[in-house]
Amino acid sequence: HNNDRPTNQSVKALDRAHVFHSWSAQGALDPLAFKSGKGCRLWDYDGREYLDFSSQLVNTNIGHQHPKVVAAIKAQAEELTTIAPAHANLARGRAAEKILARAPAGFDKVFFTNAGADAIEHAIRMARAVTGRDKVLSAYRSYHGGTGAAVVATGDFRRIPNEFARGHVHFFNPWRYRSEFHATSDEEECQRALHHLRRVIESEGPGNIAALLLESIPGTAGVLVPPRGYLKGVRALADEFGIVLILDEVMSGFGRSGAWLALEHFDVTPDLITFAKGVNSGYVPAGGVIISERIAHHFDDEMFYGGLTYSGHPLAMAAICATLDTMAEENIVDNAAHIGDTVLTPGLARLQARHEVIGEVRGLGVFHAIELVADRQSRAPLDAAAMGRIKAALLERGLLPFVVANRIHVVPPCVVTAEEAERGLAIIDEVLGAFAG
Ligand code: PLP
Repeated sequence: HNNDRPTNQSVKALDRAHVFHSWSAQGALDPLAFKSGKGCRLWDYDGREYLDFSSQLVNTNIGHQHPKVVAAIKAQAEELTTIAPAHANLARGRAAEKILARAPAGFDKVFFTNAGADAIEHAIRMARAVTGRDKVLSAYRSYHGGTGAAVVATGDFRRIPNEFARGHVHFFNPWRYRSEFHATSDEEECQRALHHLRRVIESEGPGNIAALLLESIPGTAGVLVPPRGYLKGVRALADEFGIVLILDEVMSGFGRSGAWLALEHFDVTPDLITFAKGVNSGYVPAGGVIISERIAHHFDDEMFYGGLTYSGHPLAMAAICATLDTMAEENIVDNAAHIGDTVLTPGLARLQARHEVIGEVRGLGVFHAIELVADRQSRAPLDAAAMGRIKAALLERGLLPFVVANRIHVVPPCVVTAEEAERGLAIIDEVLGAFAG
């Protein structure tokens, strides 16, 4: 029997033989193997425990294996595992209703997709259909997904080898620490970033622009909480020029920022909202577009040219219903806000005071980032080799981190306890201390 029991080694060997990985050269990969999880903890095949400070790809907001969500998926599987999108199904209707209950006033329909990227694809398509216009403006500091238009709307380096969708234009979104506008205050950064966006709109021809697409809080780009007034200013530009405003809440939504949707922090109402990840913590793949009444009504008589075989998949819908109910019953969004305010924000400020290598800390709720620099004066990003050593040292101490470029993103599940959050910060403190020495 023992010979058949999977080990880290055997599971990794099978993976390396046959599984082709995302965003990677395949030759030098050495993946971690995971067998099971519970809340913020994960176990590998050799029984070693990890504290998950990544929420995987920042999606397991409700933690691993929440029993109520697992039970709901099982119950739906017993009743009906799949049904075409053209048919009405109770789980699908209820999931849409529960999502709309968390959206701002004035939204009344949900289009379901399989994930975040195809939510972006369909939101862009809706904006083009409604406006009869073509161009999509999005931020350089962004990630919107790996498919056709979504990857070209993306601002980061992954766009460049994939630029085969047309009509995309980029602009710089605000970030005072690495200001493109020589700003010395948040107000200046905000006002100059809005002026820059106005100039891009004017220069591209407002009559050609279908959509302005932005993450409410750019996530993968570094948890770049926008300055007060920026998103309201973007809303005003969209209104002035008749452009559809799409806010991407795929990463920031459903608890991550300590609010149901991150747009609540900024007092702004877009025309379309994209979501995925936290809506059901990825227990079954799902995403979608929350549609304002105005845009939904456009399609009362006009055909919508878009669709997916698994749009509104019953297992995913059952997982959404149970996730959103459980997040409300167990005050999970409040927990995310509370952990942010009482543990992560003050704890990260303490780390910054202790470690020269930290250039900036920022974030809200359980959505934070630590910006590591080679030199505080020049703000030069810490190099990849050093980041690799830091990541290895965190893993060695049982912390599964989310490391992007020169940053450690501090993104545990929204169910994280104060004790777990403190423990994760203590591990980071220890590793950065050893790094400096
Ligand atoms: N939009 C945002 C803001 C994201 O963070 C992501 C994924 O990280 C996506 C879209 C793409 O989602 P998916 O990977 O589910 O296609």
